[in-house]
Amino acid sequence: MNQLSDRLNSLSPSATLAMSQKSNELKAQGVDVINLSVGEPDFNTPDHIKEAAKKAIDDNYSRYSPVPGYPALRNAIVEKLKKENGLEYTAAQISCANGAKQSVCNAILVLVNPGDEVIVPAPYWVSYPEMVKLAEGTPVIVSAGIEQDFKITPAQLEAVITPKTKALILCSPSNPTGSVYSKEELAGLATVLAKYPQVIVLADEIYEHINYIGAHQSIAQFPGMKERTVIVNGVSKAYAMTGWRIGFIAGPDWLVKACNKLQGQYTSGPCSVSQKAAEAAYTGTQEPVKEMQKAFERRRDLIVELAKEVPGFEVNVPQGAFYLFPKCDSYFGKSFGDQVVKDSDDLAMYLLGEAHVACVGGTSFGAPDCIRMSYATSDENIVEAIRRIKEALAKLK
Ligand code: PMP
Ligand code: GLU
Repeated sequence: MNQLSDRLNSLSPSATLAMSQKSNELKAQGVDVINLSVGEPDFNTPDHIKEAAKKAIDDNYSRYSPVPGYPALRNAIVEKLKKENGLEYTAAQISCANGAKQSVCNAILVLVNPGDEVIVPAPYWVSYPEMVKLAEGTPVIVSAGIEQDFKITPAQLEAVITPKTKALILCSPSNPTGSVYSKEELAGLATVLAKYPQVIVLADEIYEHINYIGAHQSIAQFPGMKERTVIVNGVSKAYAMTGWRIGFIAGPDWLVKACNKLQGQYTSGPCSVSQKAAEAAYTGTQEPVKEMQKAFERRRDLIVELAKEVPGFEVNVPQGAFYLFPKCDSYFGKSFGDQVVKDSDDLAMYLLGEAHVACVGGTSFGAPDCIRMSYATSDENIVEAIRRIKEALAKLK
């Protein structure tokens, strides 16, 4: 008997979380697995942020907060956007949620009618097309391969805009490729969008601070764009706070109000203590952010150097985030014993079983010829993981 809704039945489970769970299960059985699957910083939350959370508990921040979050947190985010991004928002234009994941989903649910199209450049973060489907919209996938550094061009964007286009989801720095759109590239996309004022841009900037090429650029900075852009960001990646679940949107009043209405009916404001921790993250020292960024950059250099030596891998040099997304289709069709590697999902399963390294196949990211490796782990793990991968791949005939 299947009593589930069509909406739910059409949804795929999150491949990143599924692979991470598989890896944890193997670990629990005593297998020495190196987990390069889930994308989360391996650092602990900085001490001053933890102290703020402890104080919040003692100060009895134990009741419902306003649905969009405490004014103090929203004001801290307003200051952050002004100082770091040169963008002026009011506290009413900020809405906090249970992680950037909910922020993205809120924005999609308030915008998309059944049949509306949402442009999703591929490779994409696994959850975007699923969230669009949840809203009964149609994800319109635009593919950008490794030869164009996984970034779409203005011409590609223009080619898929139709009267039904409601939104474009832009993720820079990107999960899963680590590619970063330059100011000029964003300007090119903004020029196309200027011709289609009905298209809203969902700018997922969660990897803003994990950027190896200088100042972060937001599409909201271009003339006419701020009024139609929803910036999504949060504390998970920059401050090593994935478990605290605080994300936010910054956007036009009408859209933020709608997200508040939606959130008020199904989750309310996010965790009170986490909000006080996030406030400390935004108002306190930014030194830990810089330290972590430096560590990620060093690991990026290390994994790129090692992965380039893996026969059959084609490697781009990621400019941000903490993912490597090598093209690995030269292994498709090869086998080990009776195990045939048909695609990158099979390759990920093979590497988990044979090398005990957990990666995520590219299919769920809309790029079946690539495989994702998160290098948010120690140098030793990176070195050992690539050694094992190389050894396991050499067995494929
Ligand atoms: N957007 C992207 C591109 C991500 O990789 C993630 C990671 N989970 C999120 C949003 C959501 O982050 P969180 O919900 O932890 O804030
Ligand atoms: N965003 C991270 C990833 O892509 C965390 C898992 C998830 O929420 O998808 O691995």
